Amino acid sequence: MKITINGGHCPGMEPGAVGASGLQEAVVVQDIMHRVAGYLRTVGYEVLEVQKNELYEITNVSNGFNADLFVSIHCNSAANTAAKGTETYCYSLGGEGAKLAQCIQKQIVNSLGTVDRGIKTAGFYVLKYTDCPAVLVETAFISNPDDEQLLADAGKRDEFARAIARGITDSLQ
Ligand SMILES: [Zn+2]
Repeated sequence: MKITINGGHCPGMEPGAVGASGLQEAVVVQDIMHRVAGYLRTVGYEVLEVQKNELYEITNVSNGFNADLFVSIHCNSAANTAAKGTETYCYSLGGEGAKLAQCIQKQIVNSLGTVDRGIKTAGFYVLKYTDCPAVLVETAFISNPDDEQLLADAGKRDEFARAIARGITDSLQ
C-alpha cells in the first residue's frame, strides 16, 4: 500500500493562511505531514511526503509514485474569525475518496473535539488530477483563536496526525 501525504503550501515560499499570532499554515501542516508519515510507516505502509509550491508538481510526483491513496493536509481560514472546526473534501461522493474523507473526518472530530463541518466535495486541483482516491483535510481554522491554539500546540498536532493516520487505516478495512 502506497500513500501520498501532501502538506499544503510551501514553507519559505508560500505560507498559506496565517493566524493572528503569526502562525503559518505551511509550517503547521509540514509538521503534521511528517507525523502522519511516521505513523503510517510504523504500520508498514510505503509513504511519499510531498510539499511543493506548484500543484502540478505535487500530483505528478504522487502519480509517478503510483500512490493508492492521496491525502492533502491544510488549515482553513475565513474572514469571519468565529468560523471554526474540521471539514474534509473529496472530488465526488459515493466512492473510495468519500469513504476516506468520512473516516478521517470522524477520527479528527472524535479525538480533537473540533466542530464537525462534515465532508464536502470540491474540484480542487490535487483532488482532480491525482490518479487515486484523494482527499483534502482542513484540520481546523487558523483564523479562529481557539482552533489556532490547537494548531500551535505540538501535542495537538500529534493528535491530528494520529487521527489522520487512523482514518486512513480505517478506510482500508
Ligand atoms: Zn491551505
